[in-house]
Amino acid sequence: MSLLNTYSRFDVKFVKGKNATLFDENGVEYIDFTSGIGVVSVGHGNERLAEVICNQAKNIIHISNLYRIPPQEELADILVSHYGDGGVFFCNSGAEANETALKIARKYGEVDGKPKRYKIITLENSFHGRTISTLKATGQPKFHQYFGPFPDGFDYAKDIKDIYNKIDEKTVAVMIELIQGEGGVNPFDKDEIQELALELRDRDILLIVDEVQTGIYRTGEFYASNLYEITPDIITLAKGLGGGVPIGAVVTRLKNVLKPGDHGSTFGGNYLSTRAGIEVCNILKEEKNSGKLDETIQYFDDKLVEIAKEFPNLFESVSGYGLMRALKTEKTEIRDEIVKKAFEKRVLVLKAGTHSVRFLPPLTITKEEIDEGFDRFKDVCEKVEE
Ligand SMILES: *Cc1c(COP(=O)(O)O)cnc(C)c1O
Repeated sequence: MSLLNTYSRFDVKFVKGKNATLFDENGVEYIDFTSGIGVVSVGHGNERLAEVICNQAKNIIHISNLYRIPPQEELADILVSHYGDGGVFFCNSGAEANETALKIARKYGEVDGKPKRYKIITLENSFHGRTISTLKATGQPKFHQYFGPFPDGFDYAKDIKDIYNKIDEKTVAVMIELIQGEGGVNPFDKDEIQELALELRDRDILLIVDEVQTGIYRTGEFYASNLYEITPDIITLAKGLGGGVPIGAVVTRLKNVLKPGDHGSTFGGNYLSTRAGIEVCNILKEEKNSGKLDETIQYFDDKLVEIAKEFPNLFESVSGYGLMRALKTEKTEIRDEIVKKAFEKRVLVLKAGTHSVRFLPPLTITKEEIDEGFDRFKDVCEKVEE
């Protein structure tokens, strides 16, 4: 095998997908509660998305940002319509979106080209990406073991309240997830977040909300920021936005900080990825407006709560919002065994943090798929409890 050894993978090859159901090369069927880590938001093999991508591919896939790109402008309008007055920059991944946000913040903190304020405060247990500076922004020591020296100017707060202790005259921005995803599906308190947003605005410190995982209806609202009823200075997006086509985006009220030449991306916002993003937003808007998404969320929640009640020896709590959920176990070993056995029982779930079993199903998952997935998951829990 000619691949670098960067992932520990399950030994399976999926060859076909239909919504939240996957089939391996022998036609064996799996229920997908992961959606490729929150990416395949409109399900596998989505006909509408496939048709839009096909049609675009037959015309122009890519043309560079030297010229106007109509679907890029249209997708930007959609992202801004759920935000307020602002502008959008497109890139290709979550890490790149966060890099962009850090650059906007750093430039905002400069005066006449001289760095005045540059410090960025993030939270312990956060996850912001794998580039050198987003790794540094990630508040988990295990990510800082190699790869140094890292850029200066990052500091970590233990929780939302501790952010105030870390602020000094060099602080230009605070970057947080509203619900920490990789960290274990940990939502922050709405009142604390609203207070933070007001306080930072008051002190002219930027609030960057990393919505790479929570964005595009994952929590039931377009942005988790809508759910928390805040308007951050910068929102970053990626995972669910393209339905599997790589795309990242930064939405910000700071429309004039970056000037031509300050930042760019060769692939960012090309015809193919933005056309896909528009269709994903259209499909999910219909799901939301018809009430179907809220129904699915409620149905999923009922099942999750039921499982937690049925297996109190395995699960300590249920967490998350919308279709970004977790069951928390007491011990890491129990969590690991559940995830492994779930694969054997052909229901795909994710790990998060040290003791969370994470669920990120496609937002279009059907009740039948939810039923089937939880039937299998219940078998898993019975086996692990033995
Ligand atoms: C996945 C994730 C990232 C990194 O996204 P990539 O596309 O893998 O670079 C950043 N922030 C959060 C909150 C994420 O969940």
